[in-house]
Amino acid sequence: MMDDAPRLWTRRRMLGATGGLLTASAWVPPVLAAAPASTQPVKLPDIFAKTERERPGPPNPQPETERVGWAVVGLGHLSLEEILPAFGQSKRSRLVALVSGDRAKAQAIAKQYGVADKSLYDYKSFDQLKDNPEVQAVYIVLPNSMHAEFTVRAAQAGKHVFCEKPMANTSAECQQMIDACKKADRKLGIAYRLQYEPHHRAVIQMARNKELGTLKLFTANNGQNQGEPNQWRHKKALAGGGALPDVGIYCLSAARYFSGEEPTEVQGFSHSTPGDPCFKEVEESFAFHLRFPSGFQAHCTIHYSTHETKDLRLMGTDGWASMDPGFSYSGLRLRVGMKSRSFPKADDTVERSFSQPSQFAREMDHFSRCVQENVVPHTPSEEGLADLRIIEALYRSAQERKAVRLGAAKKLDAFRGPPPKEEG
Ligand code: NAD
Repeated sequence: MMDDAPRLWTRRRMLGATGGLLTASAWVPPVLAAAPASTQPVKLPDIFAKTERERPGPPNPQPETERVGWAVVGLGHLSLEEILPAFGQSKRSRLVALVSGDRAKAQAIAKQYGVADKSLYDYKSFDQLKDNPEVQAVYIVLPNSMHAEFTVRAAQAGKHVFCEKPMANTSAECQQMIDACKKADRKLGIAYRLQYEPHHRAVIQMARNKELGTLKLFTANNGQNQGEPNQWRHKKALAGGGALPDVGIYCLSAARYFSGEEPTEVQGFSHSTPGDPCFKEVEESFAFHLRFPSGFQAHCTIHYSTHETKDLRLMGTDGWASMDPGFSYSGLRLRVGMKSRSFPKADDTVERSFSQPSQFAREMDHFSRCVQENVVPHTPSEEGLADLRIIEALYRSAQERKAVRLGAAKKLDAFRGPPPKEEG
């Protein structure tokens, strides 16, 4: 087993560092003496009436030295615009290394975020991460076709792996990643940010508490206009597919986690405008229908050439929950509709708004806690594999122009780990 305990100066470690010159009973390490106070949440007196919404209180960040050290691999849009800034909001995670094919870019970013020059790697020197004990977790933010290779190499370097969605281009690659992490006794989590997001968590809770009655239908539209034809998202070898694995995975995943069920029959319809240079290799749009064992169904459309559209609606016998936008990084709006309790002749439509901390900070902190406390991630590799199996079935269905049947799951939330308990 690798040493991935938080970097606390334990008495044993300190004695080792001082060559055992101090006797155990005489010596009190100053950092250890301060540690318990720094990990206790600071409480402030309540100033609001009970009728006001509850506040989470001040955040309780871990001291830098106790946090899990992360290396981020791939310095493109998602890393620079969302993930690196999110370390500023995280409470258990700290950025300690960068991996990029572009040395000058990596050096500029390292300066911005205080990463040491010795902790910059490229895709060849990546395996030397094994000699960097500061790095405990590696976040793979590369084109989809590279997820499998770098997950396997990270596990072989003794690191826990957090990998962007889609987990890989094929379910066979997902299985290789799972096997490699199992063999190296490392955790593998998939970055399904919305499963850590407060509005999505509230809808999951409403669904499990049957507040919407029996769930009947989920609908969603997720589209964006991709434009630039030469990007990797339009190359089948790099992306695995088009709109379906990139943005369709959010609709597919939401239908699964809101209901907790796994689909047993799926049908897909693929479309690309003939002659459009963006869609020579991958599909422009995809529509799919999923049938679940309870009778619940999902119907979703996904686009690479519509103006940004990200809405969803979950419908039950007694009410509905609707979000627009529903899949964005921020600004989510949740409305809930059901018969009014106080006016039986009326429907109530309420907006439920939660604070919107960085989804990336939340998912990274959850994974850091899993590393620190040896917990299975809420969105483990099996969750990523489940999506890839369904995506493969959907492509088969679209190609053969018929519904495809899938095996049933034995229980609700069949592939998910324990729910996240991140604060805020
Ligand atoms: P991007 O194109 O902006 O960045 C990709 C990075 O990989 C770039 O730095 C690029 O230089 C590097 N790279 C290395 N080898 C490459 C190659 N052969 N071809 C192209 N680029 C190469 O992409 P992105 O939007 O940052 O997406 C990266 C990953 O993150 C993808 O898996 C994507 O699905 C995922 N993603 C997830 C979310 C989310 O909300 N969770 C959002 C966007 C992207």
